[in-house]
Amino acid sequence: MADRTLRVCALYPDLMNIYADRGNLLLLERRCGWRGIGFQVTAAALGDVIDPDAHDLFYLGGGQDRDQVLCAQDLVDVKREALHAAVDRGAAVLAVCGGYQLLGHSYELGEQSIPGVGLVDLRTVRAEGPRLIGNIAIEVDLPGLDGPRVLAGFENHGGRTTLGTDERPLGRVLRGHGNDGHSGLEGVQRGHVIGTYMHGPLLPKNVWFADWLVQAALALDVPLAPLDDELERAAHASARHAAGL
Ligand code: GLN
Repeated sequence: MADRTLRVCALYPDLMNIYADRGNLLLLERRCGWRGIGFQVTAAALGDVIDPDAHDLFYLGGGQDRDQVLCAQDLVDVKREALHAAVDRGAAVLAVCGGYQLLGHSYELGEQSIPGVGLVDLRTVRAEGPRLIGNIAIEVDLPGLDGPRVLAGFENHGGRTTLGTDERPLGRVLRGHGNDGHSGLEGVQRGHVIGTYMHGPLLPKNVWFADWLVQAALALDVPLAPLDDELERAAHASARHAAGL
C-alpha cells in the first residue's frame, strides 16, 4: 500500500472554511500517514483551473453567503467541467454546508439565485425562519459497510435543501434538523459524492467515515488496516452524547 497516495484538492480553502472545516484534511493526512499511504493536498482558489485526473478527493467547506456567491460563480465558470469529469471517473467529493449547497442546482437568497455546479440534483432556499443550529446525529448506510452507522456532528445553516426525487440522502436524522428541518433527511450521497450540513471536525468525530472516504477515493477493494482508535471512539461517543443519543 506504500505506493498509494491520496491526492486531495481543497477548493477555496480560505473562503470556504467556517468552523475550521478544512481541519478535516489534517485528520485524513494523519490517518493516511499512519497506514503508509501518501497524502498530497493542492489548493484551488478563485480562478485556478483544475486537472480532472490529478485528484482523488475534492473537499469544499462551509461559507458565509457572501463568500459562497464568489465561489459559486467560479465553480460554474472555471471548474465545472473538470469536476464533472473527475466524478465521472470515480473521484470522491466531500462538501460541507455552504459547499454542500453549491453541489446542487441553485441556492436562492431572496431575489438572488446563486448557481450550483450540478453534481447532484438538489436545490436550496434561504427561507424565512430561524437558522437550523445545533448538534446532530444521523443514521447512514453507505455502500461497502456491513450495516448502518451513526455520523454525529454540528449544523448551522439558514438554507433549506430539497433533494430531487431520485436523489439519496446521506442519512436519516436521529437528532437535529438536517436538510430542511422537517423531512428527516440529511445530506446527499450519490456514489462517491457526499454533501452534508455537518461542520467543523466531522472527520475527527467520525473516523469510520474518514476511512470510508479514503477507501472510496482510492477505489481500494480491501478495507484499510485498522488503527488504534481509542481516542477517536471517545470523540465519537462524546459527539453522539452532545446530540442527545
Ligand atoms: N450560508 C449558508 C447558510 O447559512 C451556509 C452557512 C454555512 O456554511 N454555515 O445556509
